[in-house]
Amino acid sequence: MNAPSHLWLPEFTRSAAELLSVVVPVYNEREVLPLFCERLQQALGRLQMQHEILFVDDGSKDGSADFLRLFALSVPTVKVIALSRNFGKEAAVTAGFEHAAGDAVILLDADLQDPPELIPDMVAAWKKGADVVCMRRRSRAGETWFKRTSASLYYRLLNRLSRFDIPHDTGDFRLMSRRAVDALNQLPERNRYMKGLFAWIGMPTQVLLYDRDSRAAGNTKWNFTALLGLAFEGITSFSTAPLRWTTLVGVLASAWGTLFGLWIVAKALLLGDPVPGYPSLIAIVTFLGGVQLLTVGLVGEYVGKIYVEVKQRPVYLVQDVTASTAVATVKTERADRHVATR
Ligand code: UDP
Ligand code: MG
Repeated sequence: MNAPSHLWLPEFTRSAAELLSVVVPVYNEREVLPLFCERLQQALGRLQMQHEILFVDDGSKDGSADFLRLFALSVPTVKVIALSRNFGKEAAVTAGFEHAAGDAVILLDADLQDPPELIPDMVAAWKKGADVVCMRRRSRAGETWFKRTSASLYYRLLNRLSRFDIPHDTGDFRLMSRRAVDALNQLPERNRYMKGLFAWIGMPTQVLLYDRDSRAAGNTKWNFTALLGLAFEGITSFSTAPLRWTTLVGVLASAWGTLFGLWIVAKALLLGDPVPGYPSLIAIVTFLGGVQLLTVGLVGEYVGKIYVEVKQRPVYLVQDVTASTAVATVKTERADRHVATR
């Protein structure tokens, strides 16, 4: 990639050989796309490096795909991969990474929460040798106190549970070297909790701080239940500790049950107390019933994940690919091996 150090080459010649891919997942972002495209092009224009912009349209229903297709037909560096329906951001990102040809790949949200103006800094960090340039939010503009606090607690829990560090306050906004992208593309799982997968590959990582803006237009696709689902997904995809906890609860409950039983028998034999009645019995039975149901549910969650994995469905399906040089319409082409369900 980089020229050997004993060769003297002016910066621009060296850069000219390298390609930067910018991957942008898009779902119903018609309102913000014109401004996004303008800002992105300006930022890339300042960079002395070849680039390609890869929009992955994740089954938008608001005309985003048509806007992007026209854009791709008029700008040679732009390519649009339209998925056959909405597969979720994780799948769209996976599609983007698998189609990106760059020596470095930047992942960027379309809603301008990740400022494209930071791209030159990210590229500079990559050129200094980082495989992953991870963007950490300095502030979380436009987010409620509740979201900030729950996010912070959640990451603390997640990091206690998994063997590697899943960084707090870093989203999907990042640059990855070809090596890192190839590593990521090797991960075959259908349950694609991207934050976890990004952390799992490791590699020399440089963290840059930035101020996360609020959405330029449109609405977030994440409501409270979706976030809760994602949080649960994160834990169950990267840790089996909850299963161990249930075993521990089982051990404690049975130990307590044994002691309690012995105590009742001893009391009846020694003191002649009649066996105490109905309320305590009902309380214990309900408590244990609850614990059992919870445990079965938790085990079911993991079994469900195994079910999704063994079906081996692809993570996404590509409907068509649009680029100014060649317009390929592959009817629901079966794309690669990966999936994601959300
Ligand atoms: N997105 C997507 N598929 C989805 C939901 C979202 O491709 O099913 C894209 C969306 O267009 C945006 C990015 O993922 O570019 C982040 O989405 P959003 O802003 O809703 O998430 P947040 O920033 O609130 O985490
Ligand atoms: Mg957003």
